[in-house]
Amino acid sequence: MMTVTLRIWRTSNVFVDFTVTVPAGGTVIDAIERVFAQPETELVWRHACHHASCGSCGVRINGVEKLPCVTPLADYPSGKPITLQPLAHLPRIGDLVVDFAPFFERMQAVGMPIIRADETVQATTGVALDNRQDMRFEDCIECGLCVSACPAMANPRFLGPAALAAAERLVQEPRGADLGALLQLVDSTAGVWSCRSSYQCTAVCPSGVDPAGAIIRLRKSL
Ligand code: SF4
Repeated sequence: MMTVTLRIWRTSNVFVDFTVTVPAGGTVIDAIERVFAQPETELVWRHACHHASCGSCGVRINGVEKLPCVTPLADYPSGKPITLQPLAHLPRIGDLVVDFAPFFERMQAVGMPIIRADETVQATTGVALDNRQDMRFEDCIECGLCVSACPAMANPRFLGPAALAAAERLVQEPRGADLGALLQLVDSTAGVWSCRSSYQCTAVCPSGVDPAGAIIRLRKSL
C-alpha cells in the first residue's frame, strides 16, 4: 500500500487536500475513488469504464490533460500532492465535472460521422432504430482532452480539434456526405484557420487520433 495526497480544485474554487491509502502500483483513479468513498467529501466527478474506453473521467492532472484511469500514480513524485482540476474550455458543473453539451454541439456541426449504411442496426438485425446517437468516428473516444489542451479554444466559435478531426475523417471517406458544405464550414475562423498548430491536442490525445495532423490535412484539402 502507499499514501497519496490529492489536491483537488473544488466547486468553491479552492484547492483542498485529501490524503488516502491505495494499493501500490495503482492509478490516479484509484486514489480519486478513495476520496469519493468518503461521503462527507461530496466529491463531484465522473467515470465509467476504468480502461480508457469511455473517455468520461478526463481531468487535468498537475496541469496536463489525462485519463486518470490509465495514469499510474508512479508517474508523479512521491511525497508531493497531485493536483486535479476539471477540463478547461467547457462549462463546469462541479468539482471535476464539466458539461459536454458544447463539445457534442461541435461534433454535430460537422455531421458527427461516421457509420456505414451496411453497419446500421437495421442492416445487421432488420430492426429499424434511430441510432444517430450511437454514431462515432474511428478511434476518438470523445474524452475532450484535446479541447481542454487547445490554446485556440479561447475563441468560443472555434470548432476545436475533435470536431475538426471528425471533419477530416469525413473528407477522407465521405460516404455520401455533403463535402461542399463541410469544407465551407471548416474554411473559416471557426474552422482550421484558428488552429495555432501547437499540437497540444495531439500530445494529450489518449487514442492516437492526432487532431493537429488532421487539421493540417484539412488545410491542404482546402
Ligand atoms: S480526438 Fe483524442 S483527445 Fe480529442 S476527444 Fe477524441 S480521443 Fe479525446
